[in-house]
Amino acid sequence: MPSPTGHGDAVAEAYAALLRDVGLEVTVDRHFPGGPNVVGRWRGRGGGPTLAFVGHLDTIGADHAPPRLADGAVHGRGADDMKGALAAVAEAVGALRAAGVALAGEVVVAAHSLHEAPVGKMEGLRRLVAAGVLGDAALVAESFPAGHQILAGKGQAIFTITVSRPGEVVHENYAAAGTINPLDVAIEVAARLRARQAALAAEGDHPLIGPETLFIGEIHGGDFYNRLPTEARIVGIRRFGPARAWAEIEREFADLTAPVAAASGATIDVRLGGNGLGYEVAPDAPLALALAAAHERVTGHPLPVAGTKSVTDANIIAREGGIPALCYGPNGATAHADEEHVAVADLLRAARVYAETILGYPGLVRG
Ligand SMILES: [Zn+2]
Repeated sequence: MPSPTGHGDAVAEAYAALLRDVGLEVTVDRHFPGGPNVVGRWRGRGGGPTLAFVGHLDTIGADHAPPRLADGAVHGRGADDMKGALAAVAEAVGALRAAGVALAGEVVVAAHSLHEAPVGKMEGLRRLVAAGVLGDAALVAESFPAGHQILAGKGQAIFTITVSRPGEVVHENYAAAGTINPLDVAIEVAARLRARQAALAAEGDHPLIGPETLFIGEIHGGDFYNRLPTEARIVGIRRFGPARAWAEIEREFADLTAPVAAASGATIDVRLGGNGLGYEVAPDAPLALALAAAHERVTGHPLPVAGTKSVTDANIIAREGGIPALCYGPNGATAHADEEHVAVADLLRAARVYAETILGYPGLVRG
């Protein structure tokens, strides 16, 4: 069922039906057109914690061969990222309910549909966080290649720095004396960005997510060898650790660019686009311990701990919602690939681990 970001109604209805089939109380919130939220609740007696399973129903808009089951794997757009994992969550909940498990607390299954950038801006997830439905801890069912427990993630700021001067583009020989060349100024700015990148590298590694980085991905300016341009632009991404506040990043870019603007007389405009701050969850948080024990029970192996350099739902849940959040899913490594697939064995393992996590989460199941 195709569900590129912004076209999520059909898949939301299908997932809502699946959750109803396993006995959950389900609501579909259509606040964002084409990007519904689906929330399924498995209510207990009361007095226990609430554990949420979170995932996104939308996929990137890239074409894909028709879905099929082949070579022990489900192939299709969204199989790995991340309908497979959401199906595994429903399977886990259904299996426990069929086995007669009763809760003291509550299990919430929360799916949203505006995840994949640039169409999605995590509006649906932020609405779930604001509504307070995610409770005491959240397991984001997103896949990571090595089947690790993801306990930390970098924040990110996409920067666009535009250097400009007044006036028109002119032949360099006819420019008035002292006319600013935005390319010269952009080179100065780029040098300061590179120095900052070196300083960040020297600050050392976070144990799970490595060093903070500042990456220049684009430099634009000029259109002819002897025409003096009016504008130049540098675009890139700044990735930062769990301790940083957004205001610090804003200040950092102001400090990097303001001296160059003052010295050159050029106008330097900085735009920062963020879609998540860094976060870190304590390795001994109840959910982290319950998940690690569940993984070991199901697989016979300890669960490796890792971090991610990319922003996930956990950044928003943990940092903006203040709810301990971690990522654990099937072993996918084909998210956004031309040929997306997830092994059935990995889906089964994820479903079993999710079920065991519910059983092992302190105070959740009625004793
Ligand atoms: Zn995903």
